[in-house]
Amino acid sequence: AAVDRIDAVEDKVDGYLCLTTETAMKEAEELDGLIAKEGRKDVLEGIPYALKDNMCTDGIQTTCASKILGDFVPPYNSEVYDRLLAQKGILLGKANMDEFAMGSSTENSAFKVTKNPWDLTRVPGGSSGGSAVVVASDMAYYSLGSDTGGSIRQPAAFCGVVGMKPTYGLVSRYGLVAFASSLDQIGPFTKDVEDCAIVLSAIAGHDPKDSTSLKVDKKDYTQNLKEGAKGMKIGVAQAFMGEGLQPEVRAAIDSAIDTYRAMGAEIVDVSFEYLDYALSAYYLISSAEASSNLARYDGIRYGVRAEEYADLVDMYRKTRTQGFGDEVKRRIMLGTYALSSGYYDAYYKKAMQVRTLIMDDFKNVFDSCDVLLTPTTAKTAFGIGEKTGNPLEMYLTDIYTVPVNIAGIPGISIPCGFDNDGMPIGMQLLGPVLSEEKILQAAYAFE
Ligand code: GLN
Repeated sequence: AAVDRIDAVEDKVDGYLCLTTETAMKEAEELDGLIAKEGRKDVLEGIPYALKDNMCTDGIQTTCASKILGDFVPPYNSEVYDRLLAQKGILLGKANMDEFAMGSSTENSAFKVTKNPWDLTRVPGGSSGGSAVVVASDMAYYSLGSDTGGSIRQPAAFCGVVGMKPTYGLVSRYGLVAFASSLDQIGPFTKDVEDCAIVLSAIAGHDPKDSTSLKVDKKDYTQNLKEGAKGMKIGVAQAFMGEGLQPEVRAAIDSAIDTYRAMGAEIVDVSFEYLDYALSAYYLISSAEASSNLARYDGIRYGVRAEEYADLVDMYRKTRTQGFGDEVKRRIMLGTYALSSGYYDAYYKKAMQVRTLIMDDFKNVFDSCDVLLTPTTAKTAFGIGEKTGNPLEMYLTDIYTVPVNIAGIPGISIPCGFDNDGMPIGMQLLGPVLSEEKILQAAYAFE
């Protein structure tokens, strides 16, 4: 059924960068026979899914939607892929994304622009736009994305699906091409909250191959799902309900608050002191880390090399000039500047100090509530091309999602209504470190 959907709609939405459907069909047939004989062993056995094209897949392209990795076929698997292989999941392909996960619309892909299935003239969000679209349009039953500043939750909101960024370190990033190492986290896109809990259960848990992996045992995140929201303390903060909020988004959040109240949850007002600085801190920290992580693309170790050059330095320069897109270059320059001597204290160090203040802010907030309810984005999906000429406006679309990565806490985006044009609206549920079960429970109660 997923392959039929790919045949019918992939041409219109361009969600995939590469398809592995031929192998997938063979695997499915073999598995059919096996399941008929032995029964199903794992919940995800035989379920077709997609991976964002920044997760390494042995023998299958992993381009990060960049020309510089255009011909890169990794010789090893990312840990998440290995865990899904172990459950006999069936990979349908690699999903489109913003180059190196830098962007909020998937328009920064070097290869194609993915369209929002609800309105083909609008963006699907980003950077994991492809992963959101393949699930929203039934071209996969779940997918994985990565979220450095909102790249799972924002496209989930724009495409009307569920997307979760787990606690920093809960899901192994071994084999995930790094963007900003202190912020990156892998998580699922699904049609509903229960599927999200199932996929999280499959990919979460300690991995010795990732030095930032938390020492947390595997567990079944579906266990407490159905316990309801009664008695739960749900925080609401004015800082997330500011001026730029589209009226229909505000109305959808207000109505979600009413729904929780009706279910017996206690709604508490909470406040932040430093949230206004989150976006600036995020773009400094993420660009600084990116400039360092991307130094490895030098034309020698990976991927594409410029064809003509005079000497070694010229080869580096030409390879990087030709291989990276504009947004990636912008981040490398911004990050290199923020880390350079003389500016380090003024920018990078300051941003790290702000980061600590924002973490404390969240700690205080979670002293008085179990989960925090916010819109995922201030507005619904924007038009293709609408923000490409104005990077700052593009960055501003992440204002409600980046604080979560700065604090390392988990967050989920679930659909909560539609605007007047019929575009989906998403709401975010956030909680303290390792509160995934509570967040999923609150999300499931709403759904
Ligand atoms: N849109 C944000 C950025 O461009 C977040 C990206 C992400 O989460 N990977 O950095």
